Amino acid sequence: MTVYNFSAGPAVLPKEVLQQARDEMLDWHGSGMSVMEMSHRGKEFMGIAANAEADLRELLNIPSNYRVLFLQGGASMQFAMVPMNLLRGKASADYLNTGEWSKKAISEAKKYGGVNVVASAADRNFAYVPEFSTWNCDKDAAYLHITPNETIGGVEFDWLPDVSVPIVADMSSNILSRPVDVSKYGLIYAGAQKNIGPAGLTIVIVREDLIGNPVSGTPTMLDYKTHADNESMYNTPPTYGIYIAGLVFQLLKKKGGIAAMEKTNIAKAELLYSAIDGSEGFYLCPVERKNRSRMNVPFTLKDASLDGEFLKQADARGLLQLKGHRSVGGMRASIYNAMPLEGVQALAAFMGEFARSHA
Ligand SMILES: *Cc1c(COP(=O)(O)O)cnc(C)c1O
Repeated sequence: MTVYNFSAGPAVLPKEVLQQARDEMLDWHGSGMSVMEMSHRGKEFMGIAANAEADLRELLNIPSNYRVLFLQGGASMQFAMVPMNLLRGKASADYLNTGEWSKKAISEAKKYGGVNVVASAADRNFAYVPEFSTWNCDKDAAYLHITPNETIGGVEFDWLPDVSVPIVADMSSNILSRPVDVSKYGLIYAGAQKNIGPAGLTIVIVREDLIGNPVSGTPTMLDYKTHADNESMYNTPPTYGIYIAGLVFQLLKKKGGIAAMEKTNIAKAELLYSAIDGSEGFYLCPVERKNRSRMNVPFTLKDASLDGEFLKQADARGLLQLKGHRSVGGMRASIYNAMPLEGVQALAAFMGEFARSHA
């Protein structure tokens, strides 16, 4: 049976990449070694890492005054590294609160300085993104932190606020899914396990001039400069994760880059939201239309007593990991780059059948 994995993360990876990794598992390019066994300072692995960085730079058109860092610790560690490194003597930073991940970033930043929440969507259960005209920005803020895609709430926005301070974006769940103009950001970070590769790798793209002035007491490993000065090889990097991410980048290039990914992602999202909206209220999506995520699609069944049956039947058809986040309930289908259109078609077809047989 073909299985489609709708997990929010760790998430589905492209089949082509897994097959290539399988083929190269015991003997990478005639080296006689698995990538897992290689010294990170050997020429084979140095080449793998350099190619991964070059391909990511090409895909996202990353300007030369930005550094690409391959780190560990997940996006959650960035919640601390960002304020530690980017406060740079300023009293506070601005944060937009659009949901669960914003909240975590905010509470961590409070350990290092003041936090000014420019706007919050808490008043309507985080089902929308507050209009920029309502934001209360501080022109002296060290930076502004946003979460362009809230993975749990399924809320996404693609516009950038018109501010003069550096913008920091947690793109863990939508990086590489749509074009971004990196030059408009001070720093972008993403845990790899949603839209890039395996868990254990975290990617940071940071403008050079923001590096090098961390709060006193910052551990060596949490200072961006340590990693920037050492090509992300100050200590042992997550080598296998970098290798797999590199294979994903190669595949994305082959498939036509980010513009091509976006086109497919729009088609997948439209299909799934139509299945929800066309169900005459059998399924409901709580998110305001214009802020609906293309990556994470939360929905509820009008009759929540059918949740268990829905999940059981979905599972039996190979439609896996549809249970919503414990804080939200209902269902959530994550449809990252690596989810094929056929997977979303299968889900939409099942949803239609299930609704008809339980209406
Ligand atoms: C998953 C996620 C995180 C946390 O990532 P970890 O790598 O588990 O620390 C943070 N922000 C967003 C938007 C996420 O989706």
